[in-house]
Amino acid sequence: MTEQSLAPPTLDRPGEACGVFGVIGPNADAARLTYFGLFALQHRGQESAGISVSDGDNLTIYKDLGLVAQVFDESTLAGLPGTLAIGHNRYSTTGSSNWENSQPVFRHVGSNGLALAHNGNLTNAHTLGAEADGLGATTDSELMTDAISLAMIEEDLSLEEALTRVLPTFDGAFSLTIMDKSTLVGVRDPHGFRPLCLGTLDDSWIIASETAALDIVGARFVRQINPGEMVIIDDDGPKSRFPFDEATSNLCLFEFVYFARPDSTLLGETIHTTRQRMGRALAKQAPVEADITVPVPESGIPAAQGFAAVSGIPYVDGLMKNRYVGRTFIEPTQAMRERGVRMKLNAMEGVITGKRIVLVDDSIVRGSTTKQLVAMVREAGAVEVHLRISSPPYRWPCFYGMDTGDRSTLLAAGRSVDEIADHLGVDSLVYLDLDNLIDATGSNADAFCTACLSGDYPTDVPTTDGKFLLETTT
Ligand code: 5GP
Ligand code: SF4
Ligand code: MG
Repeated sequence: MTEQSLAPPTLDRPGEACGVFGVIGPNADAARLTYFGLFALQHRGQESAGISVSDGDNLTIYKDLGLVAQVFDESTLAGLPGTLAIGHNRYSTTGSSNWENSQPVFRHVGSNGLALAHNGNLTNAHTLGAEADGLGATTDSELMTDAISLAMIEEDLSLEEALTRVLPTFDGAFSLTIMDKSTLVGVRDPHGFRPLCLGTLDDSWIIASETAALDIVGARFVRQINPGEMVIIDDDGPKSRFPFDEATSNLCLFEFVYFARPDSTLLGETIHTTRQRMGRALAKQAPVEADITVPVPESGIPAAQGFAAVSGIPYVDGLMKNRYVGRTFIEPTQAMRERGVRMKLNAMEGVITGKRIVLVDDSIVRGSTTKQLVAMVREAGAVEVHLRISSPPYRWPCFYGMDTGDRSTLLAAGRSVDEIADHLGVDSLVYLDLDNLIDATGSNADAFCTACLSGDYPTDVPTTDGKFLLETTT
């Protein structure tokens, strides 16, 4: 496989969390269900997609770079028969972006096999690396698979026994689907950084990153898998085990802000509703005089709706998004590159010109998209641009599955809100306060990880890591 550039310049974005899926059932067309599950989770990672399937005797895996619909077609799915499968959408958080790093990861275990799909990021991969040395792992997910398969081979353990012994040695974020020839396992790390849910469809069981993946295949949501819980499903149905000493909830607050699909349910509420509430809170926190409320599609839409409802400033679609922008294998021309954000978003002059606008978005990470967007809106004739962001300044690097690079790439790191407003060229800028954001979720602060927004990390993180590089800290 030749390596091609997968990073179009207009999507110069930090990495999303990945998406995982798993299904088992006596009559399940497992690979097809997994395909649709991954299709619903496409927003969580666009770099590669893969499915591993078991027909009871053999484990087969197919994965490649690209979107789910680019990687699989009827003929590849026809080559994946079986009633047990797992799948993965990847956006690289550790390791570089190439075929070898795509998932599920597969290892032979005697006449059996082991496949693993990982959403998250380990914080102690360097120590695990020593143990599984020599196996050539280049990602934390491969290290996990090596450690589990080694325990199965060398200590002659079942998958469940091996996981019970090995999982507590992993630190950091991991929502996993794992399978051997006859068993599906779902694991959520003891902080519960990334979501993972359980569903049923006829006589099948499903495990997925988000409830939207259950909806697409017509499955019924049963419950979220708890932090520190391992759900093992075989012919006898599911059973729960708790292999970790302690568990607490540090669900990623950014799932509510940006990652999760608006039609998914988290902590008992539809994300779309939670995001509208963030916008309502933002309007109360930061009133402004303006003519129209304009969302930055798609992620800013629910917050803009909430903002408009409370402020009374009419909601108007002033920016058009190209729905079909995704990862592309085609390099744009230099002229197009300079047009940057316009590949993705276009300002509607007739709607915006002469107006004082409130531009609502969910977050600013590097600030490059936002800066271009503000310039574009001004060019389209906006007389004032008031930017409202439905989350606090993103100032700290994430070690739990979102690749933001080091602190120097984060616009808000080491900058005051006034400095950020100047840099972006807006007339005013207000970020939603952390307390208001948490209130909007309907849960308490202690349910969440807020590290990228607060600097308060729920676990030890490698502070000598290059990610912390920044001369001044705030
Ligand atoms: P920036 O101005 O930081 O370049 O881009 C801000 C935009 O990026 C916002 O519209 C926000 O929805 C989006 N965003 C925030 N986090 C992520 C992420 O992890 N991946 C992608 N693709 N977009 C993100
Ligand atoms: Fe989520 Fe931010 Fe915590 Fe990472 S640091 S898990 S993005 S809240
Ligand atoms: Mg966005």
